Amino acid sequence: MGATKLYEADGHSFILLEGYGHGEMVPTNQVVIHDHNEAILLDPGGHKVHYEVLNEVSALVPVNDLKYLFFSHQDPDIVAAANAWLMLTEAEAYISELWIRFIPHFGVDELLIPRLNPIPDKGMRLPLGNTELLFLPAHFLHSAGNFQVYDPLSRTLFSGDLGASIGPPYVEVTDFDQHVQYMEGFHHRYMPSAKANRLWADMVRGLDIERIVPQHGAYFPDAETSRQFIDWVAALPGAVELMESVYRVPE
Ligand code: FE
Repeated sequence: MGATKLYEADGHSFILLEGYGHGEMVPTNQVVIHDHNEAILLDPGGHKVHYEVLNEVSALVPVNDLKYLFFSHQDPDIVAAANAWLMLTEAEAYISELWIRFIPHFGVDELLIPRLNPIPDKGMRLPLGNTELLFLPAHFLHSAGNFQVYDPLSRTLFSGDLGASIGPPYVEVTDFDQHVQYMEGFHHRYMPSAKANRLWADMVRGLDIERIVPQHGAYFPDAETSRQFIDWVAALPGAVELMESVYRVPE
């Protein structure tokens, strides 16, 4: 666990909080993007990591600067602590319009619900400080209402569950082929559609990408490993096809 500044220049920084979670919990990565006096926290994580992440974030940016929270999708390792984050900050939260009415089941206070803002299916741009971020549509990768964040200044793509790796003994991917073993099982089960994989690859090939940071495991630290990852996703089979044989009534 720890915070690493992956980019810092001219009042803009992209900070990775890596490997939060212990015991049986899948470790999560959180990201803070800070531009002048405004910051956004991406995929803040669940209850068990909330205080650690909050402490780390407050050490990095004044809490009053935390203007936005971004939830890539509705999973508990992302949104479970939504109420606490909304209580302790003034931040506006963004999540797919599909999940706005589901998140309150995690126990979001009625008074805080107006601060849950829907992201439309086609994505959007969010002004942050002197710059703006892109919320890119990444539906079915893996959630039905799913977004990723591209930061044009650091040229970094935050890819949520896409690119997740489980258990690599390092934080930066240096040898892509060696790294595939830590991603394969997860992607063959959680990424349902080969077509969505390919559409995503075609979309992000239009962006200038220097690194890709997923929500779990190691990140792709340069343009070359990022390109290898995008090519790998473009050819990735869909979980639905891989799992056809399980659609049988259990004996
Ligand atoms: Fe997920």
